[in-house]
Amino acid sequence: MTKKILVAGGAGYIGSHTCKVLAEAGYEPVVYDNLVYGHREFVKWGPFEEGDLLDRERLNEVFKKYCIDSVMHFAAFSCVGESVENPIKYYRNNVTGTINLLEAAVNHGVLKVVFSSTCSTYGNPVSIPIDEQHPQVPINPYGMSKLMVEKILDDFDSAYKLKSVKLRYFNAAGADPSAEIGEKHNPETHLIPVVLDAAAGRRPYITIFGTDYDTKDGTCIRDFIHVNDLADAHLLALQYLENGGDSEAFNLGNGQGYSVKEVIYTVQKVTGQKIKIVEGARRPGDPPVLVGSSQKIQRMLKWAPQYNDLEIIIEDAWRWHKKI
Ligand code: UDP
Repeated sequence: MTKKILVAGGAGYIGSHTCKVLAEAGYEPVVYDNLVYGHREFVKWGPFEEGDLLDRERLNEVFKKYCIDSVMHFAAFSCVGESVENPIKYYRNNVTGTINLLEAAVNHGVLKVVFSSTCSTYGNPVSIPIDEQHPQVPINPYGMSKLMVEKILDDFDSAYKLKSVKLRYFNAAGADPSAEIGEKHNPETHLIPVVLDAAAGRRPYITIFGTDYDTKDGTCIRDFIHVNDLADAHLLALQYLENGGDSEAFNLGNGQGYSVKEVIYTVQKVTGQKIKIVEGARRPGDPPVLVGSSQKIQRMLKWAPQYNDLEIIIEDAWRWHKKI
């Protein structure tokens, strides 16, 4: 029988790409999403159940309706700046909502969870590249909400034998090469789509947040990972749990850093458009360098990124971006 995976947040960017990979691997993704940031048209690979994580009745109903085998949990608010201004929103959705989801799972005997965590749980890096042993000291409520869930998952393992894989993403980017789904946020704040907006003429210029960092060209350095490589990692994590794997945490990055200026130049090269640059002030809360080591997941789950080249990531993002 086809295994059903409850995908909370499956109408969002990373969730929808993972649903496609799940369906291709023979699973049935059941998407649970409140459509606050998700898109109904991104749900193409299985049933859709509209609902909020704060609605415990609705969650129970969905677990009852489908014979769910495992959970993948993408549903979260993820804007760092907003989390600083409105921590209630973040802790209520990301922490309380997750407790509701996990409680419903446990009540229905579902004891395998793959969770979207983040490199924001590490806070300011004390060593680069960041590996899973790096201290977790978040510097904003978003990162803290994700770290809290990591701890809650471990407590659920001790108490209820719920096994989880926490995947700590670095900077997700790109889109499925088919361009049928992609990154679509409103308002858009992430670097690559913002620069693509400028290339498409939807923004007059791009502001670089800080050009006086102690980096090779003065701008921040990030580790961009293709959304399909993230999706593949979710499938491997699920299969690892199905094979009796113990609870684990893994980083997901390419291990290679690109500066904000390098991203802008690569967008210019890919799109053939000249982009107007405005050099602005630093954005509060931005660590100068975030680059991750993903050796652990490569070693343990045999994950291997297929799109570890910034130009390819931007080409795929651009193909999607031109459509929206
Ligand atoms: N950034 C920028 N201009 C923008 C958007 C982002 O200079 O319009 C920089 C931002 O300061 C950071 C990097 O690009 O150094 C990546 O930011 P993003 O919001 O995409 O991801 P984050 O690393 O914050 O998760």
